[in-house]
Amino acid sequence: SREWHLLTRPAGWPKPEDFALVEAEVEQPGPGQVLVRNRYLSVDPYMRGRMSSAKSYVAPFELGKVMQGGAVGEVVASNADGISVGDHVLHFLGWREYAVVDAQEAVEVDPDAAPLSTYLGVLGMTGLTAYAGLLRTASFQEGDSVFVSGAAGAVGSQVGQIAKLKGASRVIGSAGSDDKVKLLVEEYGFDAAFNYKNGSVSEQLGEAAPDGVDVYFDNVGGDHLEAAIGRLNRGGRIAVCGMISVYNNTEPAPGPKNLARLIQTRGRIEGFLFSDHYDLQPEFVREVGPWVGSGELKYRETVVEGIENNLEAFLGVLRGDNIGKMIVKL
Ligand code: NDP
Repeated sequence: SREWHLLTRPAGWPKPEDFALVEAEVEQPGPGQVLVRNRYLSVDPYMRGRMSSAKSYVAPFELGKVMQGGAVGEVVASNADGISVGDHVLHFLGWREYAVVDAQEAVEVDPDAAPLSTYLGVLGMTGLTAYAGLLRTASFQEGDSVFVSGAAGAVGSQVGQIAKLKGASRVIGSAGSDDKVKLLVEEYGFDAAFNYKNGSVSEQLGEAAPDGVDVYFDNVGGDHLEAAIGRLNRGGRIAVCGMISVYNNTEPAPGPKNLARLIQTRGRIEGFLFSDHYDLQPEFVREVGPWVGSGELKYRETVVEGIENNLEAFLGVLRGDNIGKMIVKL
């Protein structure tokens, strides 16, 4: 079984030499464990944080050890009650071909109800992130005008479409290519979108949101956050989901210069973590599942094949190679 190890903590952009694909023995499951043949692996921006030693909400990856991440696979040996060979499970031991998983850490998923990869994306972690961040943290209300950055990505594309389906007055997205911008408007039904690489974020947002922004869902930080604060309406809410523009910085990035605008607008800015909102999971599945099934909520996945390309897929997420959820298929 092949697995990816972190060898050195990257400084700035991760380099291939910081990692190694290593051959390991396939172990047999102990009591209460199952052996899973992973089929789909998730690569996510937060993994960059785990590659550094800084204290965060999850422990750093250990040097010289296999990395972790969301994964879905098929049980090929079981030593646990209630899980049989042939079952499919979602678990957290990605970055490897085979995983020995504690049954308590495995969630059974149904490959007939939805494609297996969607349990990592539109019906999984990134989907819940979009749902909880928009509806709970940003207190989205019908009639709000919503701006979301990283809008062609896994979380962002779902935020914009949920806002639309729930009666937003206007949904604006930003993304890093003209093709992505086109997709947002033509396929996902955004009212306006712009390529942040084509000019000032603030100016482009001003044009796209002439009546201002009630909700900003931040996936990016930096210029985007400053621009959104500048266009925030009275009572506006900013949900800080991620700040991918700074994940590879070696020095802390300067903060927004215009925070005083929060006083004028009585605006609120609040960070959130999806895992604090698992209580919303049943409601999320009940509401979003049918939208995905009917095609009212569209999703894309960028699928990279092979464990040997797992690292490249992860780097691709940081570069913006993906449209929708980046998935590695084994
Ligand atoms: P995406 O699918 O959105 O992929 C990341 C995207 O970020 C890339 O496709 C790229 O698209 C964009 N990007 C990269 N660098 C920059 C930059 N400098 N400026 C602007 N955009 C950039 O990933 P996810 O949907 O999985 O995650 C989106 C955000 O949500 C991340 O910040 C992540 O850390 C955060 N997150 C937070 C969670 C929480 O619980 N708080 C849970 C899950 C995710 P482009 O071509 O448009 O540049």
